[in-house]
Amino acid sequence: MAVARGTAVDPFVEGLVRICSPDRVVTHPHALRAYESDGLLQYRVVPRVVVLPDTAEEVRAVVRACHDAGVPWVARGSGTGLSGGALPVQDGVLIALTRLRRVLEVDLPNQRVTVEPGVTNRGVSAAVAPTHFFPPDPSSEIVCSVGGNVAENSGGAHCFKYGFTTNYVTGLEVVLPDGEVVTLGGPELDRPGYDLVGAFVGSEGTLGVATRITLRVVPVPETHRTLAAYFDHMAQAGEAVSGIVASGLVPGAIEMMDRITIRACEEATGAGFPLDVGAALIVELDGPAAECDAGFDRVVEICRAAGALGIRVARDEAERELIWKARKAAFAAMGRISRGYYVQDGVIPRTRLHEVLRRIDELAGEFGLTVANVFHAGDGNLHPLVCYDPSKPGDPERAEELARLILRVCVDTGGSITGEHGVGLDKKRSMPLMFGDADLDAFHRLRCAFDPAGLANPGKVMPTPRLCGEVPGPYRQHPLERAGVAERF
Ligand SMILES: Cc1cc2nc3c(=O)[nH]c(=O)nc-3n(C[C@H](O)[C@H](O)[C@H](O)COP(=O)(O)OP(=O)(O)OC[C@H]3O[C@@H](n4cnc5c(N)ncnc54)[C@H](O)[C@@H]3O)c2cc1C
Repeated sequence: MAVARGTAVDPFVEGLVRICSPDRVVTHPHALRAYESDGLLQYRVVPRVVVLPDTAEEVRAVVRACHDAGVPWVARGSGTGLSGGALPVQDGVLIALTRLRRVLEVDLPNQRVTVEPGVTNRGVSAAVAPTHFFPPDPSSEIVCSVGGNVAENSGGAHCFKYGFTTNYVTGLEVVLPDGEVVTLGGPELDRPGYDLVGAFVGSEGTLGVATRITLRVVPVPETHRTLAAYFDHMAQAGEAVSGIVASGLVPGAIEMMDRITIRACEEATGAGFPLDVGAALIVELDGPAAECDAGFDRVVEICRAAGALGIRVARDEAERELIWKARKAAFAAMGRISRGYYVQDGVIPRTRLHEVLRRIDELAGEFGLTVANVFHAGDGNLHPLVCYDPSKPGDPERAEELARLILRVCVDTGGSITGEHGVGLDKKRSMPLMFGDADLDAFHRLRCAFDPAGLANPGKVMPTPRLCGEVPGPYRQHPLERAGVAERF
């Protein structure tokens, strides 16, 4: 749908219509609302226009048009991001990449696949099946795009063993914010020179648009052995995780859910999880059958020693899928428990799990809010789900504040403000918890090298947006510092 009937003609939008054709330029106010937020529903901005390019060349032409007109833009994959990364900018263009979903080249002898950015994770694995697969597996893998994975450096349940998106991207074709097309990296695992692929992965759409992505894929393991162990307390499940890791086993996945999450997932999927337990641990071993069998017995022993009340072993692929269906439904299922919830994403040293959970419980009590917990336990990647009532005045703000304090707890224990969901809009205020002025300045310079005009996804990631070339002002003491209430470190 092109320019809405009855509205004034916008020459800039007319230019976009010439690039993408009228049916792929959205301007009608109702249709624009479909793009007003990503998975972080607490923030909404209606963009000036949405374009749906069909080819990399159309993406380039749109970005060039924005550059020439000084119009900001935001790239969007499937819009499942949970940190507001794909939140549009008002008066800006939203470049939706869902139509770029071609698999361009499958090279199994060299374990490579090249795809357009709109292909989903499942789509990549399907393209190289049945012999190979693409390991990063966000729980949104059915719909989320590889372009979004690259921009967020996404992870998932199997990243404990297999690593994150950054471990699989070898080459990128990128449209830079001035419309120039460059190739970063290539099909090889490691190219000489600066690691610009590494810089781009995780840059959250602030350095350009990835239009062609070359990925490493790996052979499908001979077998999987999966179990769910149930415990009275999260601390016991945490002890089992530490025991498994200390034993030298490297499971494909170790996931943990608390009582509230188990209930929500069970209601949503009917997977057969007991409702009277305090914690569930899902452990999956993969690899050669003999190795998995031996390791599996050891995992069972460790879970029993940690006090497991019961252990359910997946007897076949259907049961394995059911167990994963329940775990992967965790975020969506929370809607059964609470009308509103805020998905937090932080990292802690695995060994501090018990202490961090206790602190989260205390904070939840102080705020009078419920917090459910689900983790990629092997990586120490927590996803506290802060529940609130959207219709209760002040509740959403309190939930956001509680979620922010949880991040502070993560950083205080030696962890991080994000494990896999990115900084986006949501966590940019928390960046100073981890990075000093000099670090943030270095990030800013990198960004300016790619995007001197600051048009690519402005207002995201960096806590205090600055213009390229702008020098931070001289340090002035904050009144609280003068009063001795706060200090600079
Ligand atoms: C139910 C649920 C479960 C989830 N589970 C996980 C999980 O287990 N692990 C995990 O890591 N994440 C998870 N996520 C978060 C999300 O799915 C991932 O971050 C995913 O990679 C985002 O992909 P997307 O296509 O939806 O990207 P979007 O949300 O559309 O965009 C995300 C960011 O990428 C940028 N971007 C998108 N495409 C491009 C491109 N081609 N070039 C440059 N920048 C681009 C956008 O500007 C934005 O900053 C989950 C989300 C949901 C809703």
